[in-house]
Amino acid sequence: MPTTAFQSPHRRYNPLKKQWVLVSPHRTQRPWQGEVNTASGFSDVHYDPACYLCPGNERAGGATTPAYEHVYVFDNDYAALLPDSPAPETDGWPALLRAERERGLCRVLCFHPDHSLTLARMEVADIRRVVDAWTAQYGSLGAIPEINYVQIFENRGAMMGASNPHPHGQIWSTEHIPDEPATETAAQAEYRQQNGSCLLCDYQKVEQEAGTRDGGRIICENEGFLAVVPWWAVWPFEALVLSKAHLRSLTDFSDEQRSLLADILKQVTTRYDNLFATSFPYTMGLHQSPTDGQPHDEWHFHAHFYPPLLRSATVRKFMVGFEMLGMPQRDITPESAAERLRAVAAEHFTVKK
Ligand SMILES: [Zn+2]
Ligand SMILES: [Zn+2]
Ligand SMILES: [Zn+2]
Repeated sequence: MPTTAFQSPHRRYNPLKKQWVLVSPHRTQRPWQGEVNTASGFSDVHYDPACYLCPGNERAGGATTPAYEHVYVFDNDYAALLPDSPAPETDGWPALLRAERERGLCRVLCFHPDHSLTLARMEVADIRRVVDAWTAQYGSLGAIPEINYVQIFENRGAMMGASNPHPHGQIWSTEHIPDEPATETAAQAEYRQQNGSCLLCDYQKVEQEAGTRDGGRIICENEGFLAVVPWWAVWPFEALVLSKAHLRSLTDFSDEQRSLLADILKQVTTRYDNLFATSFPYTMGLHQSPTDGQPHDEWHFHAHFYPPLLRSATVRKFMVGFEMLGMPQRDITPESAAERLRAVAAEHFTVKK
């Protein structure tokens, strides 16, 4: 990388969140005395009689997960949001004790009936079925008048608090636009107003040209999508997946773009697993246009991957100390993280030749 200045501590700006991140590359020289070992983390159990997401099994509360073949969606038995929550009664209370009604729906989406799989090890055709289910859920939930945002996400791995290894994700839809997408909505709208163009369309061009300037942050790409470790990444191997076309949400996608999204998700998760030869934990989520009836031309579809691992299958980054009280901080640069993710094999390490 020609820009040696970036080997000294500096801060980088995240225009989507309007936040800064402190980058301290020299700290990677410090000795590490923590535990370092690897664990593959893969199950070879295809059906677990105790798993409530495996086909044909009973769930808490008496419901049964049917013998599904591909994907399966149901209302979460322990939903964090309910469609008929009443408004909290705080009339006459101090203005500092503010509360609002929040109605919504929480759903679970099983990605595949096989308990042992992950997105990284699923066929692209099966991930495409997941993309189709996300699209249908985004469309139908977003059409409900009191639902103004649909958040699709996956928590992968016990390290991220996933309570069940069965391949699945969640869909939480809410009356209000939650803080992260609300901040991004405002940032994208402001950028569009000031520059007459889209923030993430412009950012994508910068990343396509970046290789000659600073070594580049692209992990992988296909005709429809680009995966980068963003300039402003907080997590060591954070990734941002951007649609190359200006698409606001899944419902703007063509048939081909849905397949290409499935392909890029397979590529990114495979490289993640290959990095430390483990089932790489992360929180992944789709950010797209709110469903509040506004046109939202400023919105550019993207997916965030926030993985906690830093040095090995067991050494994770913690967001503590200065990061809780000041601002986020990272040690390895986004450029070197991208370089490592580019360098690993494109084929999953568990695939036997
Ligand atoms: Zn299962
Ligand atoms: Zn755009
Ligand atoms: Zn976002």
